[in-house]
Amino acid sequence: MWKKTWNDPVGSKLISVGLGTIIAFLLAFIYSRYTNETFEVVFEKIVFYKLEIELYIAILIIFGFLIAQAIIRKIIRFFKNGSPEKIDPIQKSNQLKIDDFIKRNHIIRYSDGFTCRYITQKSKYDVLPFIHTLSFFCDLHDAPLKLFGDRCPDLSCENNKRTVNKYLAKNNIESSVLNDWYSIDFD
Ligand SMILES: [Zn+2]
Repeated sequence: MWKKTWNDPVGSKLISVGLGTIIAFLLAFIYSRYTNETFEVVFEKIVFYKLEIELYIAILIIFGFLIAQAIIRKIIRFFKNGSPEKIDPIQKSNQLKIDDFIKRNHIIRYSDGFTCRYITQKSKYDVLPFIHTLSFFCDLHDAPLKLFGDRCPDLSCENNKRTVNKYLAKNNIESSVLNDWYSIDFD
C-alpha cells in the first residue's frame, strides 16, 4: 500500500509535504525550547524561509528525540514494575487460592465424642502452610469442653476415662493439610 502511494505522483507529494511538515514541526518544537525564539517564529522560518538545515540533521535530531523518549519510557516502566502496587493476574489468582485454603474453618469430629478445631497459617516466608492453633474439645456437653491435658476435665464424663494422643492427631492433621495443599492447582 505504501509503495503504491509513493509511486502515485499525488500520493508521494502528499507524503513528502506531510513528512516535511512533521519534521518542521518537531524541529521548531525542539529548537524553540533551547533558544529565546518562540515556536511560531521558528516554525515560520523553517516553512516559509526554508531555513537551511540539512534533511539528515533534521532526521538525526528526530531519531535522537525518539530514542530518548523510548529510554525514558523504559526507565518509567522499570520503576513501575518494581513498585508493589502492580500485581500480576497469575500471582493474584494464586493468592486467592492460598487465602481460600487458609480461611477454611477446619473441624474434625471423632466418633468417640472428641472434636478438633485448627487454624492453618501461611506467612510470606514459609514455603508450606502450617497449623497455627490446634484445640481439642469433648463434645458430650452443652458447650464443648476444652480438653485438660489429654482428657475431658469433667470427672463424670466418659471421655474423662479416654485419652487423646494430641501429638499423633497433630501429625495426622498436618499430613492431611499438606496433602490438600499439594492438590491445589496453582497457575
Ligand atoms: Zn466430656
